[in-house]
Amino acid sequence: MSAQAGKYFLATFGCQMNVYDSNLIGGMLEKRGMLATGEADEADVLIVNTCSIRGGAEDRAYARIAGMRYYKRRKPGVRIAVIGCMAQNHGDKIPVELDHVDYVVGPDNYRQLEGMLFQDRPKTAQVLTEQNAFENYEGIMARLDSAVTCHITIMRGCNKRCTYCIVPTVRGVERSREAASIVAEVERAVGEGVKEVCLLGQTVNSYRTADDDFPALLRKLDKIPGLERIRFTSPHPRHFDSETIRAMAESPKVCRHLHMPVQSGSNTMLKRMRRQYTRERFLEIVAEARAAIPGVGFTTDIIVGYPGETEADFAETLSLVEEVGFDSAYTFAYSPREGTPAFDEAETLTAAEKQERLERLIQAQFRISERNLEAMTGRVEEVLIEERATRNEGEWMGKTSCFKKVIFPHAPGLEKGSLARVLILSRSGLVLRGEALEAVEALEG
Ligand code: SF4
Repeated sequence: MSAQAGKYFLATFGCQMNVYDSNLIGGMLEKRGMLATGEADEADVLIVNTCSIRGGAEDRAYARIAGMRYYKRRKPGVRIAVIGCMAQNHGDKIPVELDHVDYVVGPDNYRQLEGMLFQDRPKTAQVLTEQNAFENYEGIMARLDSAVTCHITIMRGCNKRCTYCIVPTVRGVERSREAASIVAEVERAVGEGVKEVCLLGQTVNSYRTADDDFPALLRKLDKIPGLERIRFTSPHPRHFDSETIRAMAESPKVCRHLHMPVQSGSNTMLKRMRRQYTRERFLEIVAEARAAIPGVGFTTDIIVGYPGETEADFAETLSLVEEVGFDSAYTFAYSPREGTPAFDEAETLTAAEKQERLERLIQAQFRISERNLEAMTGRVEEVLIEERATRNEGEWMGKTSCFKKVIFPHAPGLEKGSLARVLILSRSGLVLRGEALEAVEALEG
């Protein structure tokens, strides 16, 4: 029995790139007549898009897939597909451990998955994990999952070899999409009402084709009529050059926000992690961006407790956090991942010691986040309205260009997707509260 015209259910774990890939698959299936459903028990196809970044992420995905045996028992014709990084990482092992799974498909094989779902159901599990250094899904339009903002992957894979990271193994080598197809996808999204696009890539600013590099792409997208905002994540400090900063400063639609993973403030740790930049270089980029882009906000990712991290190394991370004054940080205690270069390195800290450092870092960052938000009171900021505030139907939630969340009461002439000029009145936790002054005229193309 083919899956034609049935319903599909997609559960997604992990990063925004996985969310985008789920939307790519949704786009392929819907083009062939399938309908999305949020109810697993009414689906003909159940797809779990998995993440391998940490052991915990894999455990959660395994538990979810194991739970899907229930749907297969109730409706034996149901097909179950495990896709994404964990599918790539564990391949053949998955159907051995979870014998109700029909397909195991890595990130470079989603076109084949689409084909297989429209053929007869296989008698034994199909495992497709061959890596393809050219697959970047040109020509496929991902479905949109928000009426206001959307994420678009512009490059896939990673050529770095950070010692703690599994991504290069499961996602393969770097490859960039043609600018024309990215522009077409953004134009299509804008045609459907999207106002803000966030460009995705493991090292998004190493984007490069025969004709374009990352700053050139930013400048092209900045000209798209009807698009209001452009964000990107995550740039790698090694590739962050002055031309990118100039392109950000000179492109009015590019937001005043830089999420740039630093991972550690200690040169010794950066070298051990093979991050390919120094603390000094990171601070130089921050200073240059600050000088060129007034009001730019910085956020980051940090790992504490990497093997060999001394108290002095950790103190350097704390001092860097203070010196940059990040608005927020994703912070993690190091945990070894099988298949990464660091897996065999002996850990030098106990779990409790790593946790203690992590808590000190979180506290330090929290104080800085509060201070940065408080410094914004009294300012007028442009806020893109994303949705109704969760706690109060009479309020909007939106974000400033520098990525601060703002909640403010409804006002005439404003709706989801509007840009509003908002007077910032106060801080409430890690959110700003304000009052709308007026709608902002749309930027010309
Ligand atoms: S840059 Fe480093 S951390 Fe980022 S995906 Fe590549 S290897 Fe992983």
